[in-house]
Amino acid sequence: MAAPLLFSIGLLGLLIGSFLNVVIHRLPRQLSVVSPPSSCPACGHRIRPWENIPVLSYLFLRGKCAGCASGISWRYPAVELFTAGMSAFTALQLGWTWALLPGLLLTWALIALTFIDLDTQLLPDAITKPGIVLGIIVNSGAYLLGHPLFASPLESILGAIIGYGVLWLLAMAYLKFSGQHGMGFGDLKLLGMLGAWLGWTAVPMILFIAALLGGLIGIALLLAGRGRHHAIPFGPYLALGGWLMLLWPKEIIQGYFSLLGG
Ligand SMILES: [Zn+2]
Repeated sequence: MAAPLLFSIGLLGLLIGSFLNVVIHRLPRQLSVVSPPSSCPACGHRIRPWENIPVLSYLFLRGKCAGCASGISWRYPAVELFTAGMSAFTALQLGWTWALLPGLLLTWALIALTFIDLDTQLLPDAITKPGIVLGIIVNSGAYLLGHPLFASPLESILGAIIGYGVLWLLAMAYLKFSGQHGMGFGDLKLLGMLGAWLGWTAVPMILFIAALLGGLIGIALLLAGRGRHHAIPFGPYLALGGWLMLLWPKEIIQGYFSLLGG
């Protein structure tokens, strides 16, 4: 992909990241993501357009509100930069293809879900449910137009059912044997959404990657003396597994089977 195009997608990623900050903050609080305009949570100062430029405004304002000088979290510019980087990298991998825009949309949704889950241990239905429907529509529409994307319509629908269903079975089994809930229903809907976007064949690999990373990081946190009574949400691992399967479906499946084959 040409450098100017890649750069433009990075800039677009900064703007989207700025919007994702609003989504991450407001969605779990049941607030509208379009109105009212952003204001300082400390003093109510209305954020003016020049104070709302991704990353740059944070630097100009030295991380402080222009109204009351209370600190602005470093996470806002971090999410903007992260979204820009993820967008450019996704574009680099997918190329100038029919998969580019849907791939970016999925990436942005996964970034929002990851940060919301880290903050609140929730994966809002307002993203996962439309995400399931959109995954089926995008794959079916592209298929009918003669440009199949990530999965056929049938693979997409089966992906939603199997993604949701396989975690439902695991959750029920866990509940039966341990007497407590091991995961939230948001995780089920997220895996259903990823199945709808990437097809049912991606579901086992996403689950495998999420369980592997979740297990490794969980062990690392335990060894570091943290995390024993610290609930670690599963959503970010599912999101990462889904994103890796968006970019490298064939490579990951081949790698997995060549590992099995020795
Ligand atoms: Zn303020």
